[in-house]
Amino acid sequence: MRPPILNPLFAAPTALPGIGDKLSRLVTKLTGPHVVDLLWHLPYGVVDRRYAPTIAEARPGSVATITVTVREHAAPRTPRQPYRVWCEDDTGSLSLVFFHARTAWIQGLLPIGQQRVVSGRIELYNGQPQITHPDHVVTLGERDKLARVEPIYGLTAGLSPRPLGKAIEAALERTPALPEWLDPAWQKRQGWTDWLTALKAAHHPQSEEELHKSTPARQRLAFDELLASQLAITLVRNHTRTAQGRSVRGDGRLRAKVTAALPFTLTASQQAAVGEIVADMATPQRMARLLQGDVGSGKTIVALMAMLNAVEAGAQAALMAPTELLARQHHATMAPLAEAAGARLALLTGRDTAKRKREMLAGLEDGSVSLVVGTHALVQDDVVFRDLALTVIDEQHRFGVEQRLALAAKGEAVDLLAMTATPIPRTLMLAFYGDLDTSKLTEKPAGRKPIDTRTIGLDRLDEVVAGIGRRLAAGARVYWVCPLIAESEISDLAAAEERHALLARQFPGKVALVHGQMKGAERDAAMAAFAEGRAQILVATTVIEVGVDVPAATIMVIEHAERFGLAQLHQLRGRVGRGSEASTCLLLYATPLGETARARLAIMRETEDGFRIAEEDLKLRGAGELLGTRQSGLPEMRLADLSLHGELLQAARDDARLIVERDPTLASPRGEALRILLYLFARDAAVRTLRSG
Ligand code: ADP
Ligand code: MG
Repeated sequence: MRPPILNPLFAAPTALPGIGDKLSRLVTKLTGPHVVDLLWHLPYGVVDRRYAPTIAEARPGSVATITVTVREHAAPRTPRQPYRVWCEDDTGSLSLVFFHARTAWIQGLLPIGQQRVVSGRIELYNGQPQITHPDHVVTLGERDKLARVEPIYGLTAGLSPRPLGKAIEAALERTPALPEWLDPAWQKRQGWTDWLTALKAAHHPQSEEELHKSTPARQRLAFDELLASQLAITLVRNHTRTAQGRSVRGDGRLRAKVTAALPFTLTASQQAAVGEIVADMATPQRMARLLQGDVGSGKTIVALMAMLNAVEAGAQAALMAPTELLARQHHATMAPLAEAAGARLALLTGRDTAKRKREMLAGLEDGSVSLVVGTHALVQDDVVFRDLALTVIDEQHRFGVEQRLALAAKGEAVDLLAMTATPIPRTLMLAFYGDLDTSKLTEKPAGRKPIDTRTIGLDRLDEVVAGIGRRLAAGARVYWVCPLIAESEISDLAAAEERHALLARQFPGKVALVHGQMKGAERDAAMAAFAEGRAQILVATTVIEVGVDVPAATIMVIEHAERFGLAQLHQLRGRVGRGSEASTCLLLYATPLGETARARLAIMRETEDGFRIAEEDLKLRGAGELLGTRQSGLPEMRLADLSLHGELLQAARDDARLIVERDPTLASPRGEALRILLYLFARDAAVRTLRSG
């Protein structure tokens, strides 16, 4: 149960004075469904309204707050003319200009003969000072509230600054002081105020400088958020660690058969990773391990070895992939090897016939099928295992926490191996997973040649197409990836279809197309045509981003490369350079290219090291975008910026560990305050582990 002190913050915005349904909907769209979300919406700019000259003194172009007496209203004679209100003080006259405004509203706002304080940007019109659409018009009594530095907030369509500003002020007014959760010595060393003071300071910057993320107020708020997430991660891990696990020990007989059947030997990093996983599975604790390896580094075979380890111990293992394409591919890679080992392997996707599915489910339930590869179809209720001991999750950031947990719940004390080809910089690893055990595949399988990466302006498309023509004549196979346009898959599709049409005219009978909206069977047919060489060019939207494996492909063309994230470009490029022949990657960009875009494409030319690319990407873009948090199921950071607050993250990690070591149930007074912190940042699930464990 959420501590009652936080209740006002977790009400809907309509609970605030002056916020009705319409405004509440807009505010919810902009910041989130609760009052607390308004608190996290910090200003990005300031307007200084402290300049309070007389009319004669007021400098044109500046924002001024002036006390005037209203003299005369001049209604427009034609609809295109503005409504003018003439005002004056002892030094001169000033007109206020309104376009398309309701007369009654203006008359109410500026009654003739009364004094008003107006604030806005001073303009000169025919040598006369005027303000068009003053930002504020208030009575003398409200003057002090107005003549200050005003925060500027990000908006959304339909929401204007004043109602949003009022909503945020109202939210701040309702915000209670909270018990201090920081370690007092650390707080003192940082020179930080209490939370509420810091929050108010962050919303009321007195200058541009105070908007910066390095101000004490913003640092404190960022630290609080980082501490909440680190503490949540640490509590959950502590809970699973101490929860009963099982020791899974294979005897190696199936793995030996696979090793003998492989056409290659495992790289040293693959062997090391298998060793780490097997050792981890043997311990009585539950395994939670991340296998990180660049595209093409050979994670699938490592996963298979881990799965066979479970089978050797008499149990079952499942691998879940984010797309059907990937599930099929893993299955195709593993099937001959599983057969060599004498283990039955099933494939479960949403597309199986009823009869096959029934057989497969029966096999999983009676244990005659020991390995299964599938999509999220694996988490359906009718999938029952005789004894599931290991789940492998591929591209795990593409799954929500619920899906991962649902699969793990199909066995007892199931070990987890997560795999990712998105190299995650250390900062992000820590922020999102805490100290998850990791195994890294750092070398590429032997015999791979470096990829020749070039950047070319799209205005030279004709040359590129001609060059591709020459390579096709020599038998080359080419991926052609079409741009990501905004967030709409439909327009992606249109671009890919258009490019497909153009290339098919140039190279009749040689071009295939795949995209996300295709039926599974159609897509498989196109992929197969390309894999077997019947089609030499595969035009694709980003559906080929992860996992697709056609070693004979040696050319990757990416259109509008400037619109992709670096990590994504790296993933795409990793589709080539998988065979023994030299490969080329052409990054086509729209001209002119901005400075950041230029720097990013240069990094792609310079290096193939996925970890370095990920670090640079983090620096250039910020964390959320890098991992695509929107679809990742990772908690979003509202106040911390991982590209700037790396040191705070380390400190939060250390602090969280110490807290859990000393006070694992958060029972001390500081522990009580920390519970409030967890709820404040909606880490409710972590608090629940305190009760059940
Ligand atoms: P990832 O999933 O890490 O992107 P895969 O597991 O799909 O990589 O492996 C990529 C390709 O490399 C596959 O064709 C696989 O058979 C091959 N491969 C894996 N390990 C080795 C190795 N040690 N030596 C040579 N080829 C390998
Ligand atoms: Mg793979």
